[in-house]
Amino acid sequence: MVMTVRDLDPGVTAFLAGGAKQLLIGGRWQEAASGKTFATHNPATGEELARVAEGDREDIDRAVRAARQAFDAGPWPAMTAAERSQVLWKLADLIEERAEVFAQLETLDNGKPITAARRDDVGGTVDYFRYFAGWPTKVEGATIPISVPNTFAYTLRQPVGVCGQIIPWNYPLMMAAWKLAPALAVGCTVVLKPAEQTPLSALYLGQTCLDAGIPEGVVNVVTGYGDTAGAALAEHMDVDKVAFTGSTEIGRTILRASSISNLKKVSLELGGKSPNIVFADADLDLAREGAAAGIFYNMGQDCTAGSRVFVEAPVYDDVAQYIADHAKKLKLGPGLDEGTEIGPLVSQEQLDRVVGYLNLGPQEGARVLSGGARATEPELQSGYFVRPTVFASARNEMRIAQEEIFGPVVSVIPFRDVEDVIAQGNAVAYGLGAGVWTNNLQKAHRVAAGLKAGTVWVNTYGGTDPALPFGGFKQSGHGREMGSEAIHLYTEVKSVLINLGEN
Ligand code: ADP
Ligand code: MG
Repeated sequence: MVMTVRDLDPGVTAFLAGGAKQLLIGGRWQEAASGKTFATHNPATGEELARVAEGDREDIDRAVRAARQAFDAGPWPAMTAAERSQVLWKLADLIEERAEVFAQLETLDNGKPITAARRDDVGGTVDYFRYFAGWPTKVEGATIPISVPNTFAYTLRQPVGVCGQIIPWNYPLMMAAWKLAPALAVGCTVVLKPAEQTPLSALYLGQTCLDAGIPEGVVNVVTGYGDTAGAALAEHMDVDKVAFTGSTEIGRTILRASSISNLKKVSLELGGKSPNIVFADADLDLAREGAAAGIFYNMGQDCTAGSRVFVEAPVYDDVAQYIADHAKKLKLGPGLDEGTEIGPLVSQEQLDRVVGYLNLGPQEGARVLSGGARATEPELQSGYFVRPTVFASARNEMRIAQEEIFGPVVSVIPFRDVEDVIAQGNAVAYGLGAGVWTNNLQKAHRVAAGLKAGTVWVNTYGGTDPALPFGGFKQSGHGREMGSEAIHLYTEVKSVLINLGEN
């Protein structure tokens, strides 16, 4: 029997009840200055889930002022490292207590399977805050043996200041956590702009931050559209840093906004078109499974999705067919059904975009081994469902293999040998992730060294860890999140020289 979350958690019902969700600015929930609101939809049904305040320039300005006040004069950056650590740990505990509410909100708003929302999105968020809760007491400078006579030198790492954080819709809660946790750990204050498609979990996180004792003005959440609220944040003269995860196109806009305003620091985590490489000598059961999971997880709406599967010629047909058979077996359905493996795409816009590529593949000469169209089941018609799709006989030059589709669509491309696959793997604008499946140690290391990618997985795919740097080469971005690298993103280094006198 298929289990469904029929009765929503009372916390979810309470959260969705009442009027439009408001903005969190300076510790208070408030309407947008314009009074405008917009709708967020359930992608499994197309129905309106809630209305949300439509923040714009004036609201961003108010939020930045609140964050500035909290940074310059508030208790957050001034409190002891141990105290900040405790508050972040408390926040992680509260998220864990409210895990089911977070998971259901995420599934309702984004569409993803509830099992993944619970385990990965919410579980990953709790782990992430716990990891960064340990950092405040470990943000160290150095003493440096300079060659200026009688002079002592050291460095301080200080919080960069007011941070604008612009979040995508594919992992709404987890992407907010990736950005908030290190910023908060070092004592920064934040204006968070969730994606307009999926604002709900970030709003609930804002309330949870207040409940955990994070002082007012430290975490501000302004919902709204990208070209209004997002642009205002990226261009703001009093924001010290912007962290962005989203499309490469908007990444360029963010860099431009910095360059024409105050040269704020920018970190970017952008698109990907990651190669997932299967050598004939690999453990093929493991490799085929990994290649399928690498693209179909989160409906392919993942910047590290292994959307180009390269297969060594002798096992090409076998691997391509396996992925297609696997795709055909995946259970499509609303994310709240416990048995669902493939939920809807996030929005009508994303559905149209993905269907465009489904039509393009055959025109470019690729063969459809599975999927290739929207789902046809009557009960899936009102949602944004597409069938997981495998394109065989694909070539790396095709647009389906060069452009980020951000859907459950994989191009399976043959290769000859190590040199060939490194060249093909790198012949793309992006460089976020890469996978290699082989039982040959030399090949594994050669390919890992040769691919231009921020993360290379060998005989596994897609895992991340709060302690491990994550980010992109080439047009996949600037900077690394996670681990000590994230602490560096949110701190400035100050060199201090002290004249020790003559004697
Ligand atoms: P997608 O096209 O898949 O929605 P985007 O890169 O457009 O991805 O969106 C990622 C985030 O960037 C969202 O929060 C969105 O609102 C925001 N955004 C979009 N356009 C802009 C912009 N011009 N300036 C700042 N933020 C933007
Ligand atoms: Mg966009």
